[in-house]
Amino acid sequence: MRELRSLPKAHLHLHFTGSMSIASLQYLADLAGKPLPDFLIDENGLLVPFNERGWFRFQRLYDMARSVVTSEAAMRFIVAQAARDDAAEGSRRLELQVDPSTYAPFVGGLAPAIEIILDEAARASAETGVQVAIIVAASRVRHPLDARTIARLAARHTGENGVVAFGLSNNERSGTTADWEPAFRIARQAGLPGVPHGGELLGPRHVRQVVEHLQPARLGHGVRAAEDPRLLDDLVAAGVALELCPTSNVHLGVYQHQSDVPLRQLVDAGATVALGADDPLLFLSRLTDQYQLARDELGFSDDELADLARSSISASLASESDKATWLAEVDAWLAE
Ligand SMILES: [Zn+2]
Repeated sequence: MRELRSLPKAHLHLHFTGSMSIASLQYLADLAGKPLPDFLIDENGLLVPFNERGWFRFQRLYDMARSVVTSEAAMRFIVAQAARDDAAEGSRRLELQVDPSTYAPFVGGLAPAIEIILDEAARASAETGVQVAIIVAASRVRHPLDARTIARLAARHTGENGVVAFGLSNNERSGTTADWEPAFRIARQAGLPGVPHGGELLGPRHVRQVVEHLQPARLGHGVRAAEDPRLLDDLVAAGVALELCPTSNVHLGVYQHQSDVPLRQLVDAGATVALGADDPLLFLSRLTDQYQLARDELGFSDDELADLARSSISASLASESDKATWLAEVDAWLAE
């Protein structure tokens, strides 16, 4: 049994605030002088029923966590800590997703918020050796016009150490997908691939809408494409990778048990799957835990786990030469 922490991999689905540990959250709460309620989460992590009320409980806790991030120092701390945590788990490339609008009021606007995060990502990359890239994401619970503003800003921050993709996060059930089409067009025209959420809380019909209107390079989750073999074939043919977060799926009630997550079905259909942690703060489960789950609950062999790691690297937005280096490191891991 090879060590999964040392398996070289890329981490493509991790949210800024949600990346924290409880200890980090406590530290930031102290820094902001805002005591945290004891009930924030229990020792098993958030576990909610699969309905709107469940989602709103998730959202409430998330907002509570966000409320302690009220300074540049706090923002830098989160990026640096996410990089260190990923480094300890064999991650070579972290694509961290952030909605800058929440933090903008504390640092003088959206542009400074993005610039602080990009600057810290470059610093943390140098410190940890993990390549930290930033995905700027709009939120489904805000007006689609806000998304266009964020997309324009992201478009102005591309290039070296710049934003690498444009996302759409928060409640998948909220709003009409077509309304975000202009924002994704702005991003695409600036060379930023779309990586919106879709196919976790809602099923194949919604995934088709996301594909049609937002033209994603990758889908945040997309796990429920497994419910429609034709859709799955279309995604495979179009080369749309799936950022799968099995623990998140179970904690948000999409599947009852870890063994119900259709990871094997997706892989068998030829999908490019990248495992991600989504929100370790609320689910108490990090990147390597997703690979452990594949091994323990779904019977993935070391060869198959190496393939998952290769998939994550291929689906990343890193340079081809960096990908080649890391893929060779996966071969070395398997040869041990
Ligand atoms: Zn997510």
